[in-house]
Amino acid sequence: MDKVRICVTGAGGFIGHHLVTFLKKQGYWVRGVDLKKPDYEVSQADEFRILDLCHPDNCLEATKDIELVFALAADMGGMGYISANHSKILYHNSLINLHTLESARVNGVRKYLFASSACIYPEYRQEEANVTPLKEEDAYPAQPQDAYGWEKLITERLCEYYRRDYEMQTYIVRFHNIFGPRGTWDGGREKAPAALCRKIALAKLNGISEIQIWGDGEQTRSFCYIDDCVEGLHKIIYSDYHDPINLGQDELVTINQLADMVAAIAGIPIKKAHIAGPQGVRGRNSDNGRLFKILEWTPEISLEEGLAKTYTWIEAQVKKNYSGSESSDEPATSKKESMVQKQ
Ligand code: NAD
Repeated sequence: MDKVRICVTGAGGFIGHHLVTFLKKQGYWVRGVDLKKPDYEVSQADEFRILDLCHPDNCLEATKDIELVFALAADMGGMGYISANHSKILYHNSLINLHTLESARVNGVRKYLFASSACIYPEYRQEEANVTPLKEEDAYPAQPQDAYGWEKLITERLCEYYRRDYEMQTYIVRFHNIFGPRGTWDGGREKAPAALCRKIALAKLNGISEIQIWGDGEQTRSFCYIDDCVEGLHKIIYSDYHDPINLGQDELVTINQLADMVAAIAGIPIKKAHIAGPQGVRGRNSDNGRLFKILEWTPEISLEEGLAKTYTWIEAQVKKNYSGSESSDEPATSKKESMVQKQ
């Protein structure tokens, strides 16, 4: 029997690369598509195309002769990046998602999974650190904090309309802070777990104990390990559930607690210097009730276990790339970058 043919967009990125590895182990034929190849490891995709998905012809090429699409490509990063690049993010991601979905329809793709985000949830439900976990229906009345979240919400609606208007099975997954090895760990697009691992690994390397944290560090989040994420994605695309669904852990921690956990793994004492910087919403957690009801499964890997694996990998990167330099906490400001991405 012929293998099912899958396209993973964003396959040069963190989640996309791990997903390709997972899908190959399951025996699928996989085409990876991205602006770039994965940064830290060779992709196991059967075919890897370097394509800018802002352009419709490239999206048609990406989805040709494909049955299932995991649409993960996005211009994104951690809070520093997301809060400093609203126009660029809204412009790029709208183009990517409009053209990828329409091309998938034209090419007769059967199943299309869109990577949405917890960033779609309204700011007014996330003002307390001790936040009530967010249920999928909490998305409306809509008031995401950033352009990134607004674009995700619009594409969620687009997926719903495409499913209703055409015979295309769409799936909408709202990720809650996915982390793990082989993700961006420096340069400005990294997220909190990777940034903290880097800062603590650098402190250890340099024999210092002070690390910088944006804000008072009492903002809360939950973090989901990458292996759970890719397993969840695979389960969801074979479910018959099409409304938005959370995919995340529900163990809530403050950023200060997260830093302490990483320091314990690194085996060094740390002092936290709280500095001004983008923090995002005050608190956010995932309600996994719907996920469990649909899949009879929720993420299983504990934060401690995932952090230990992530720290080990980032410490090795730090040792390889730095010698005696200190961490920089400057938020990424790439406003000067062109609105048109180059391949
Ligand atoms: P990532 O930045 O590592 O990967 C995204 C990939 O998309 C990158 O490799 C990038 O080069 C590629 N890309 C950007 N513009 C492109 C274009 N024009 N054409 C082709 N490829 C392009 O991010 P990630 O963490 O792997 O996230 C994957 C998806 O999951 C994204 O849609 C993101 O918004 C969503 N998401 C991630 C998280 C998380 O915690 N990592 C949380 C919520 C949602």
